[in-house]
Amino acid sequence: MAQIYRGRFAPSPTGPLHKGSLVAAIASYLEARKHNGQWLVRMEDVDERRNVDGAADCILRSLEAYGFEWDEDILYQSHRKQAYSQALDTLRHQGLIYPCTCSRKSLRAKAAQGEILTGQLGYIYPGLCSDNHFSDFKPADYAVRIKVPEENFGFTDELLKHHSTQNLKHDLGDFIIRRRDGLFAYQLAVVVDDAYQNITHVVRGVDLLDSTPRQLYLQQCLNYPRPAYAHLPLILCENGDKLSKQTGAQDIGDKADSALMVACLDFLGQKPPSGLEKDTLANVWQWAGENWNLI
Ligand SMILES: [Zn+2]
Repeated sequence: MAQIYRGRFAPSPTGPLHKGSLVAAIASYLEARKHNGQWLVRMEDVDERRNVDGAADCILRSLEAYGFEWDEDILYQSHRKQAYSQALDTLRHQGLIYPCTCSRKSLRAKAAQGEILTGQLGYIYPGLCSDNHFSDFKPADYAVRIKVPEENFGFTDELLKHHSTQNLKHDLGDFIIRRRDGLFAYQLAVVVDDAYQNITHVVRGVDLLDSTPRQLYLQQCLNYPRPAYAHLPLILCENGDKLSKQTGAQDIGDKADSALMVACLDFLGQKPPSGLEKDTLANVWQWAGENWNLI
């Protein structure tokens, strides 16, 4: 029997839902429904310092207003620390992780002096602490980094249709999977949760394209299956920045708007017929379901 399609929408509760995140919700939802699959919602609240009180509920109210129906209970990353901790232990038993005591300040100074190279994704961490032993430090004094191989990690994006690859050693260096403040890094949390929820297809914004090779590597280390990936274009502001809560994107609220839904479909290249924006939300969904094509 073929594996059932399982997709997800995974917002961070750093503010209310806005048009950019609605686009990702619509695309992941319609793609899952097209494949008679399941669609899950995961609240990516792992970075507790960035969470905004009430934002998670606000996002869910918006999704409900728009008529999204999710399968299974919502998974909150803030409730998953034990699972992330177990994954960390698995990596530790493999000798893949080490405590890094470098401060941001010291890394910045080394980069300024040219002792550390900087790539497109920031500092290329050269493994300065890779001989450190956990027993020599207190957890509050280190971040945990994972050793990366001198190897390319790549995948062919289902939407972009092109092969994206990174040599983790050359492009990034050993990366942090648990921060010094004790919070688990997004890269680890998302990989553990995608595996836990049996996600087969990830449809998300292209801003996460650069994260994918790190996630493929963690999946390999943890012996998890690899989902398929499709990265959606981002809605940009007038100045070219990604439309986001940080750049002042408007809250879409808890009253659904056919015109906004149609605008999102149009942005996703679906060519909705003119006049659909004045139709009922139910009819917009029906048209979208019948005509959806991830292109
Ligand atoms: Zn270090």
